[in-house]
Amino acid sequence: MLTAKTLKLSLKSLREFAKKSLPDEILIELDARDECPMEIVRHMCSPDKLGIQLLFVPEEFGGMGGGSFDVYCICEEMARIDLGVATAVLATFLGSDPIRVGGTPEQKKLWLTRIAEEGALFAYGATEPEAGSDLGALRTTAERVSENGNVVGYRITGNKQWISNGGVADAYTILANTPSGPSWFIVEKGAKGFAHDEPEDKHGIRLSNTAALALDNVYVDADRLVGGVEGQGLNQAQAVFGYTRLMVAAFGLGAGWAALDRAIPYSTKRIQAGSPLSEKQGYTHKLIVPHVTRLEAARAYIEETAARIDAGEGSLNTEGAIAKYMATEAGNLAADASIQALGGYGYTHEYMVEKMKRDVRITTIYEGTSEIMEMTISRDRWQLHLKTHGQHYHEEARKSEALHARNPNVGADLAGLAFHALAEVLERARLARLTRHQHILLRLGELIAYAESAGSLARRAALLAENKLHEKGNRRFDAAALAALSRIFAREAALKVAADGQRWIIGAGDAEIAEFETRLELSAIYRGQLGLISDMDSVADVLYGRAAKGAKLAA
Ligand SMILES: Cc1cc2nc3c(=O)[nH]c(=O)nc-3n(C[C@H](O)[C@H](O)[C@H](O)COP(=O)(O)OP(=O)(O)OC[C@H]3O[C@@H](n4cnc5c(N)ncnc54)[C@H](O)[C@@H]3O)c2cc1C
Repeated sequence: MLTAKTLKLSLKSLREFAKKSLPDEILIELDARDECPMEIVRHMCSPDKLGIQLLFVPEEFGGMGGGSFDVYCICEEMARIDLGVATAVLATFLGSDPIRVGGTPEQKKLWLTRIAEEGALFAYGATEPEAGSDLGALRTTAERVSENGNVVGYRITGNKQWISNGGVADAYTILANTPSGPSWFIVEKGAKGFAHDEPEDKHGIRLSNTAALALDNVYVDADRLVGGVEGQGLNQAQAVFGYTRLMVAAFGLGAGWAALDRAIPYSTKRIQAGSPLSEKQGYTHKLIVPHVTRLEAARAYIEETAARIDAGEGSLNTEGAIAKYMATEAGNLAADASIQALGGYGYTHEYMVEKMKRDVRITTIYEGTSEIMEMTISRDRWQLHLKTHGQHYHEEARKSEALHARNPNVGADLAGLAFHALAEVLERARLARLTRHQHILLRLGELIAYAESAGSLARRAALLAENKLHEKGNRRFDAAALAALSRIFAREAALKVAADGQRWIIGAGDAEIAEFETRLELSAIYRGQLGLISDMDSVADVLYGRAAKGAKLAA
């Protein structure tokens, strides 16, 4: 893992490089030309230049061995610069992940060292024209080539779709079906029978090269089978989902904040009806504050998950899915609201928020769509609900209540109400067997993500208040402001869980709900909304540096 000082320095040089090499005018031009700036991407990945790839490669292979928390911080910063360039740079880490988690020692040494020392660019080739969310439908095949009874190589045939760096990578990890099941292979550019298409003409991330790949009987030696054993491909892909989804979560967070950071200063200068927009509550409390709140809830979840992965708790796939879901959905909404916040100017290329909105749109699609995230979250937590006889979220609620007793300011009581209501909704769905409706299953995934994020943000606000926040944790807000953000989000989460939960339960045909309604504690949740507007006022004051009122908040 990087030291806090090294991480800070790396983020600083990244910012300085972007300021110099990728100012708005250049980004607008490249976006219009639909061009991946290869020179810049190579510069960023060259060991003797910016060397971003060194941060991700383990130390034993010549890198700096950054952990999940470091990766989150770098990804957020990259996304603030440009999500297309971020995708181009980060595709190398996605592409080499199957090797990092499943490669033989020789494969790790060869390929990870090439990334560290030569700045080799990778692409990750999983998706196919007919196999997107459902990778099991994979059609690419890898046939064994044997000599004297020994497998000496494979011949790979098939097509890959939407591959980031598809037209520009030096090496590719390709998922293909062997006789023993899906497996990853390393294919180098220029291999006979291997071709890529023209780059796709995309809605956003136009600075990233995305291309289809065609493999026609491409021969690779047996040592290009990742891990040396067939049939491990899906497990190897699963093993990194927590980590890679955290990367995309950080993309959503960074891109959403980048858009808001255009809207906030704009609104201080734009005068309408005699005063700046920033002084109009109907503007800030609709277009700015709710988006800041949701992004910070997502950040809390990302930071907690990253710290847990770094502490060795495993790959945390469900937590990665919650982080990705919350951050990318919030990032999208934030960027959309930023266009609205700039009015007609926001709708033009020059003011950048329009590009940011197009760019961030991809984050709810790649590395698993939001709907697949909802399914992943729901299925996993449903099992927890069953295993604990319905007590899992009541237990989370009790933890939040204990936190509230220690720190009554951070909205943990409201998070507790969200958890209790969630446990009741899940139990009701179990009794009435409602998860047979796929829509209910996925909506539960959304409610789970909201409740868990509320718990996470309350914990984060308490840690900051107690001066115990992770040393690399973001400190944009002070303890009082973060507590206000947490209260706002917990109110939203509790109301969403109870009201939407009730809606879906009744909507699925379960109308005998008098007792269930009481158990949801909806009236307590409504009473918990007390103070919402004043908390939103306080957050707006902090965002706009209105010191006098901000000081009142801190007091
Ligand atoms: C710009 C870009 C870059 C990409 N980079 C890469 C890359 O580097 N490597 C790579 O391997 N892939 C990459 N992808 C592919 C990406 O991961 C897939 O597009 C994504 O996983 C969705 O697959 P799909 O496009 O086939 O959509 P589909 O799976 O067909 O989904 C279409 C819609 O149906 C929904 N849906 C799908 N299944 C279900 C279900 N069971 N229940 C309910 N709803 C469902 C989805 O949520 C989505 O809304 C990239 C895609 C893009 C656009």
